[in-house]
Amino acid sequence: MAAEISGKDFGAIFQLSTMTSLLDGVFEGAMTYEQIKEHGDFGIGTFAHLDGEMIGFDDQFYRLRGDGTATPLKSGDMTPFCSLTYFRPQITKEIVSPLDKAAFEEEIHRLIPSDNLFYALRIDGVFREVRTRTVAYQEKPVPMTEAVKSQPVFHFGNTKGTIVGFWTPAYAQGIAVSGFHFHFIDQERRGGGHVLDYVLDRGTVQIDKKTHQTLYTPETDSFLKANLSRSNLESEIKVTEG
Ligand code: ZN
Repeated sequence: MAAEISGKDFGAIFQLSTMTSLLDGVFEGAMTYEQIKEHGDFGIGTFAHLDGEMIGFDDQFYRLRGDGTATPLKSGDMTPFCSLTYFRPQITKEIVSPLDKAAFEEEIHRLIPSDNLFYALRIDGVFREVRTRTVAYQEKPVPMTEAVKSQPVFHFGNTKGTIVGFWTPAYAQGIAVSGFHFHFIDQERRGGGHVLDYVLDRGTVQIDKKTHQTLYTPETDSFLKANLSRSNLESEIKVTEG
């Protein structure tokens, strides 16, 4: 199925399915790791049955699970939703004094030319604190606002690690998650998850301005039947993504 889109498109963010589908409980795997890795060496996402959080960089992809583990992806691992790109940063900035989430985001806004474009971001550094969550396996499809009620939350203190993610413009809310969407993994590759909050002590930020998003719409049964017109989109995304 991925054969329709082939060749390396360095300006693209490859987007498999939409955030609105997750909100409607579309957790059925639509593509394998083997298929999505044709579209990037870097990215974030989730897995079939919401069984963990995906993070990838330097062509190494991991599944971060609610039991606190990080395992390399296998070729047959299925994902219902992910955003991948070939990470080729044009902007690099050293952070030499501590920044909390709000201050860090302000710094990024000073570095990027416009909020109306898409960016991939990577932060390698020492984090005074990172708070992550990892959605737990869901046997049956439920709205994501239900699935996150039991999510384990992890606290990392004084940890070296890497944050990977994207800036998505407000007009693309519901396709991806508008604003910053970050996943974290520690340097030992032992744990991490979807980032809720953090304080970066020092590190390096790299930013890759992308030129377009390529949206791949699955033809799984659950996607075809989903209600993707969400009347409470903003509040649902606030509940599920933090
Ligand atoms: Zn996430």
